[in-house]
Amino acid sequence: MMRQYEAAKQASGDAVLLFRMGDFYELFHEDARTAAKVLGLTLTSRDKSANAIPMAGFPYHQLDGYLAKLVKQGFRVAVCEQIENPKDAKGLVKREVTQIVSPGTITDQELLDPSQNNYLVSVLRYQQGKTKDESSYRYGVAWADSSTGRFCATAVAQHQLLDLLARLNASEVLVPQGQPELVEGALSRNTMRTERPRWSFAIAAATDLLKKQFKVAVLDGFGLEEFGPAAIGAAGALLEYLKETQKSTLLHFDRLQPYRQSQFVEIDAATWRSLEISRTIRGGAREGSLLGVIDRSLTPMGSRLLGEWLSNPLTQIQAIEHRLDAVAELFRNQKLRSGLRDYLKQVYDLQRLLARVSVGRSSPRDLGCIEKTLSHLPELKKLLTGCHSPWLVQLELDLDPCTELKSQLASALADACPPTTKDGGFIKRGYSPELDDLRSLAAGGKQWIAKYQQTICQQTGIPSLKIGYNKVFGYYLETTNTHRDKLPPEFIRKQTLKNAERFITPELKAYEEKVLSADGQADELELQLFERLRELVRAATARLKSNADIIATLDCLYGLAQLASEQSYCRPQLFEDSVLSIVDGRHPVLDVVEPLGAFVPNDTTIDDDAGILHLITGPNMAGKSTYIRQVALIALMAQIGSFVPAKSASVGIVDKIFARVGASDELSRGHSTFMVEMTETARILNTATPRSLVILDEIGRGTSTYDGVSLAWAIVEYLHDQIGCRTLFATHYHELTELETDFTGVCNYNVAVTEWDEKIVFLHKIVRGSADKSYGIHVAKLAGVPNWVNQRAQQILEKLESTTQREQQRENLKAAGPAKSSRSEIQLTLFGSPSHPLVEKIKALDANQLTPMTALQMLHAWKDELQDESDG
Ligand code: ADP
Ligand code: MG
Repeated sequence: MMRQYEAAKQASGDAVLLFRMGDFYELFHEDARTAAKVLGLTLTSRDKSANAIPMAGFPYHQLDGYLAKLVKQGFRVAVCEQIENPKDAKGLVKREVTQIVSPGTITDQELLDPSQNNYLVSVLRYQQGKTKDESSYRYGVAWADSSTGRFCATAVAQHQLLDLLARLNASEVLVPQGQPELVEGALSRNTMRTERPRWSFAIAAATDLLKKQFKVAVLDGFGLEEFGPAAIGAAGALLEYLKETQKSTLLHFDRLQPYRQSQFVEIDAATWRSLEISRTIRGGAREGSLLGVIDRSLTPMGSRLLGEWLSNPLTQIQAIEHRLDAVAELFRNQKLRSGLRDYLKQVYDLQRLLARVSVGRSSPRDLGCIEKTLSHLPELKKLLTGCHSPWLVQLELDLDPCTELKSQLASALADACPPTTKDGGFIKRGYSPELDDLRSLAAGGKQWIAKYQQTICQQTGIPSLKIGYNKVFGYYLETTNTHRDKLPPEFIRKQTLKNAERFITPELKAYEEKVLSADGQADELELQLFERLRELVRAATARLKSNADIIATLDCLYGLAQLASEQSYCRPQLFEDSVLSIVDGRHPVLDVVEPLGAFVPNDTTIDDDAGILHLITGPNMAGKSTYIRQVALIALMAQIGSFVPAKSASVGIVDKIFARVGASDELSRGHSTFMVEMTETARILNTATPRSLVILDEIGRGTSTYDGVSLAWAIVEYLHDQIGCRTLFATHYHELTELETDFTGVCNYNVAVTEWDEKIVFLHKIVRGSADKSYGIHVAKLAGVPNWVNQRAQQILEKLESTTQREQQRENLKAAGPAKSSRSEIQLTLFGSPSHPLVEKIKALDANQLTPMTALQMLHAWKDELQDESDG
């Protein structure tokens, strides 16, 4: 037996081995110690002698729970089953490793988050050019979700690799043996890294395997040529790994989708994080992220698809309009939308159900769920007929009700199917006459036994006599010791317990034979019938999978329409040029989270008149960060084909979105340093194009003030002159507002605040012009810092401002240097002597934006300020 164990251990590599022995799974040696620690199992030992083997175990029906726990803790787990019935075994029962489960290969419901794809990723570095430098390498990347059958491949340059990995958020990544550095720094703590033999990445082997899987003679049909061999190698290695671990044909892997980065908006890892698209910065949860807040899908399939759409906003207007048309129709046609809602509420996660069928682990309940889902398809088809938008029309046409399969399942499966095949009862009465006969024979036998018990009780006069059953000697009669003497002599004693004795009779044994064999035969037949049903479903995998994808799409479109209706969104207009014009835009997350009407909407116009680079100043807490993110998120939402939180929006197609947060603003990352901030900024300056959208939040903050201002200043100049992309730059460096005078595309904006009763009131309204001061001391006052400190700070501030200005002027004069002729002038005025602060304030006011009430409040505040001055 231990030799069998050693063979299984060999076959499972570095996995923890669960070894089936009768009704238990056992672990030995190091695995037993691991299990004791991780699962809290008791450590015992097999063979009590000197060379005792550590051992731990649990009952077989607890497999799912323990497996889940081990995988969640980052272990790879192999399951070794008994693959023949112990009754039929000659000698040792045959055993085999039937699956190896790791975070990237899970198909079991218990281990998966329904609303997220669970990706296994494979990475291969492939040298294409002749030179040995980084530019001659391409990275083949393939990813698959074995719980749905989604399988994609691409090839990218190194800097794109990290972004792609960040977005996929893989739970496991495969790299060739000895090259763990390929994904260095790109993986989160929860990602398992698995090294795979190099031959499995070899192009020839990979090509063969893929061809066999898809049953094609050549791979040309998949459109992967442009990616070169790298993508094939990565995809082949991934498939090889899945086959090895799943030990199944993986029927649900029926195609390999090419992923073309150029069709999607490029969003790098830092932007992804700082816009909190799929998870929050603090806590890293889906809840509270854009995805979590805007998801109105009713099925996990729809939620997962929305996640993918958000990861990959489109860049082709036609493709976006295609989605928008469908969303618009569902938005307008309330009857259609509510019909769809009723339907979607009743369907199951068909994608994951099919995956389980495909790997041979589907339960009777799974098939029942497939049947129930199919039973709604005719109504759904009817509901969609008469739709106008091309996509909805197409989805209706493609929907295949699979009536034949559905009625076969419906006639065979019991109404309430059990979750396992263990206890039978999943095939409906009336489906198989043979099964029904066996069942009634077995049931009849049980009835006979019940009656027999009664008869014996009467005959012997022992009312407490009862019939029991155990595995060792089948049915028996049991009586307490008190009545022992009343038993007739033909009773054969089998067992003596403390207070009772157990007997059998020839009659009882004869019936037992009948009951047990009928029961056994019925169970076997029921399993066979079930296997046939599974086979039927398996044969229809491709059609069912296409239905699943259609339902996912409908659900995702429904969710977007529902959101648009609930939150009063508008349909964005899309353009090829670089316009960006939003009326009454709102932040999609705060819009939902804040109480109704509490969020202050803002307009945005980026064009030649209103400036292409907006500098946004204003005190802390005024709403700068919120505003600039809101603009980026609206553009992003528009390009996934969603309506947007605004009264109207015109969006010129964005090819890349960049969002950066200054080091000290991004506290939660722990390791945030100025170096990181600048590396990320470098990335923007090197890769942004005139069609990109850049939002910068307090860049330059991570260093000393003069360093910071100078860097920020130069970055603005560069973005304006060299790139010319749409940019929103939120900054507390007031000095930057001077740039407006010299650069035609730069415009100053600020977030309006007003002072009221010695306090500042945030209006959260973006207005033209620069903020008059940074209000730090006011905020301190608000926060409850003692008055003495505030007053003293005010004095120091005034002193500092006057001295640094003098010094700075002298420096600037000296350093007029190589800059453009106009630049030296700006530098002179940069810290030039201020006029009275009130005059500045009035200059910066956009009178058209003021309500009479705020105007009055401001007037009051100014009067108080002048009064204070003359008092002080
Ligand atoms: P800043 O970056 O200027 O310091 P934030 O953008 O972080 O300010 O906003 C501070 C807080 O103000 C936010 O947490 C939010 O609650 C609130 N806020 C921001 N913008 C608005 C708005 N337009 N309407 C209502 N509340 C807002
Ligand atoms: Mg901020």
